[in-house]
Amino acid sequence: MSREEGAGWGLNWTVTHAYRGSPFYRRLLDEAGVDPARVHALEDLRRLPFTTKEQLRETYPLGFTAVPPERIVRVHASSGTTGRRIVATYTRRDLEDWTEMFRRCYEYAGVTPEDRVQVTPGYGLWTAGIGFQLGAERLGAMVVPTGPGNLDLQFEFLIDFRSTVFCATSSFGLLIAEEAERRGLRERLALRVGIFGSERWGEGMRGRMRELLGIDCYDIYGLTELYGPGTGIDCRHHLGIHYWDDYYVIEIVDPETGRALPEGEEGEIVVTTLRKEAMPLIRYRTRDLSRLLPGPCPCGSPHPRIARLTGRTDDMVKVRGVQVYPAQVEAVLASIPGLGTEYQIRLHREGGRDVFRLVAEAAAATWPEDLGRRLADLVRDRVGVRPEVELLPPRSLPRSERKTRRVFDERGD
Ligand SMILES: [Zn+2]
Repeated sequence: MSREEGAGWGLNWTVTHAYRGSPFYRRLLDEAGVDPARVHALEDLRRLPFTTKEQLRETYPLGFTAVPPERIVRVHASSGTTGRRIVATYTRRDLEDWTEMFRRCYEYAGVTPEDRVQVTPGYGLWTAGIGFQLGAERLGAMVVPTGPGNLDLQFEFLIDFRSTVFCATSSFGLLIAEEAERRGLRERLALRVGIFGSERWGEGMRGRMRELLGIDCYDIYGLTELYGPGTGIDCRHHLGIHYWDDYYVIEIVDPETGRALPEGEEGEIVVTTLRKEAMPLIRYRTRDLSRLLPGPCPCGSPHPRIARLTGRTDDMVKVRGVQVYPAQVEAVLASIPGLGTEYQIRLHREGGRDVFRLVAEAAAATWPEDLGRRLADLVRDRVGVRPEVELLPPRSLPRSERKTRRVFDERGD
């Protein structure tokens, strides 16, 4: 069976299974006039209705679940910072599939059974900690499951167990890297690989962590609704993220109109699972922004690639009518020598006008007088709106052990 045929078969299975097992999906597909028996090739995807995070919340907790509750062996949930929690359910085979995908991620990052993998993402309802652990155990590496926080404990295990791989949010990765430097511990660490996920991070951050820790950094992709982290990762060439197209399909659509976009054009990632039992996804809108990359990767992988995420449809802010994405600001920071990677976008209104303040860190305790002006100019050129820049000494802005908040919009409605 070719990859294409395999995906067509998986699509037919998914739509039929969702229709039979979930009243929510049955109603959705009936309303869209879709007969599951007639969905059997990838081009049929475009006739299917989208599903959204709102629908997942509205049908909380088990609306998307398509198996009887007794077949569910695990639930996870996202932190639910906005609105109701997002719940994910798993059968035994779903966990098996997730573990296998995660093992593949480690392989792409060059991790071997000889490695010692320190897992710092949280355990419990969150998908990350346990996902990182299962994949590393499947690979045969030694897992050091320290969980989040507690810098002293992290360094104790990094040094005593000679961990070679560090798994974390990029925020925590940066915190560890800066602390290692501050405490003068770098020479005592055996780290060689960092695997970072659960928030978007850029090339500036990659360079900074490589410089401070001497590690090769990988960007792992995932979302709670789609198993969790581990559904894609970049390879040693770092030319975009390979995703596991034998488990799910990616389409890129225009976030405004929903129209499917051709290769190379940036839009919203939409995922459809091919063999997920407990909670199949049909054209699920992730709100993540990326694009499909054309052609093969030099690594020779058969798995296609998307570009690293450029943002989320909901992290864009409009300033004086201009769309501003945090990723654009990060790219500008990374392109000017002498600047750090941390920043805050602060917005408020003054006399009916938007004020855009960009607070950034210099890379050293002193900096050239014109550094702030150069940053403001380049943001104006690349993003389209000029910020008021405030520069601070290194490590002035707050660091987080999970996800760092960088946009503060205080403009009211
Ligand atoms: Zn590759």
